Amino acid sequence: MAREDAVIVNALVRQALVAAQEVMGENGLNAVLRSSGLERFVGNFPPEDLNPSIQASQYARFNAAIEEFYGRGGRGMLKRIGKASFEYAVREQATLLGVAGVALKLLPERQRIKFILNQMVAALKKTNAQVDAWVDDSGERVAYLESTCAICQGRTSETPVCHLYVGSIGEAVRWAAGRAHEIIETHCLAKGDPYCRFEIGEAKDA
Ligand SMILES: [Zn+2]
Repeated sequence: MAREDAVIVNALVRQALVAAQEVMGENGLNAVLRSSGLERFVGNFPPEDLNPSIQASQYARFNAAIEEFYGRGGRGMLKRIGKASFEYAVREQATLLGVAGVALKLLPERQRIKFILNQMVAALKKTNAQVDAWVDDSGERVAYLESTCAICQGRTSETPVCHLYVGSIGEAVRWAAGRAHEIIETHCLAKGDPYCRFEIGEAKDA
């Protein structure tokens, strides 16, 4: 069943492009923009607002193009871009993300993690009411799910492909918990699953 091609707003595209440029450099980003039909953004990032910018399928092509451009290193690049995206969101979009002035230190770790994941869901829904994302707290491990994931819109793969999302969630969890946790994409729409599901695994530090 084909999913409806959702719209991604300027602020989120800007976030992704700033992050990608930080990680890949201007030349790398421009090459990928040209190869994914997004040349209009070369030297011309969208403004920080909630107006419609691109289709989800174009965003998915941009992700696929980064993987192709870097080959075996593509996955790591996408994770780093995801990490930089979350850092950008905290720095430039703290109000949208609902983290301005928030202090989590006194909360247990699981609650801190749930807090930031719920903020990510809420922020995404603010940019597009059709977004279907949620946090599953019923299992031993907390999980973040989205059935409208833009990263894999229109893509098919035998393995999960939403590495940029893994990077963003990983940085969000590190920001909230104060230490890194393993993030595992257990389900992916590109594999034919009904949603992309990211499980928050073990803490990475000793
Ligand atoms: Zn996905």
